[in-house]
Amino acid sequence: GSLTELDTAVTGCRACPRLVEWREEAARTKRRAYLDDDYWARPIPGFGPEDAALVIVGLAPAAHGANRTGRIFTGDPSGDLLYAALYELGLASRAEAVRRGDGLRLHGVRITDPVRCCPPENRPSPTERDTCRPWITREFRYLRPSARAVVALGGFAWQAVLPVLAESGWQVPRPRPVFGHGARAALPAADGGPGLHLFGCYHVSPRNTYTGRLTPAMLTDLLATAAAAAGL
Ligand code: SF4
Repeated sequence: GSLTELDTAVTGCRACPRLVEWREEAARTKRRAYLDDDYWARPIPGFGPEDAALVIVGLAPAAHGANRTGRIFTGDPSGDLLYAALYELGLASRAEAVRRGDGLRLHGVRITDPVRCCPPENRPSPTERDTCRPWITREFRYLRPSARAVVALGGFAWQAVLPVLAESGWQVPRPRPVFGHGARAALPAADGGPGLHLFGCYHVSPRNTYTGRLTPAMLTDLLATAAAAAGL
């Protein structure tokens, strides 16, 4: 198999009844600004090359963002900020992300979510998080040879990705590293290969950006540090 095949396979997943209902409900009701849009309304795969050195982990798709456009972080204010920062650092081919298939490319970076369907209130249940975990775990098996740094966007991503990294061949320090903006942990490889640098970053959601808790400069700085740690 390949990561591309995994990306295709996940789009057919219907394992969480509440989230299947929610993603389809959003597509039926739509938001007024998007009445003419055909919503994707399926799980959102990761985006970026199979040999990415830097992996950015979010939370879950937004009902009228990725759930509409079919690509992670695409079509909402969170994603606009993230892609603009990646473009500024030379890690994306353009600053604007419009929808799946718009030609945007990432360079050395993969973006993914631990939960692939949009949840009500952006809050997946612990059961939904655990049900979805095999998808990101399988994704990290493909990324394992090239991944050198991970940025966890928010505490949920940080908590969700630690067991995934532990299952994917890296050693998570004990006690478990604690999330914060700028938190950093070194995870040695279990097999003596290259280790991984884990970075915490406040989530790019409007809740953080509109209040100034996370500024564009803070995001760019953190991504630049992580990209350097990844050798990009
Ligand atoms: Fe499947 Fe994950 Fe979506 Fe649940 S959240 S239906 S496990 S893709």
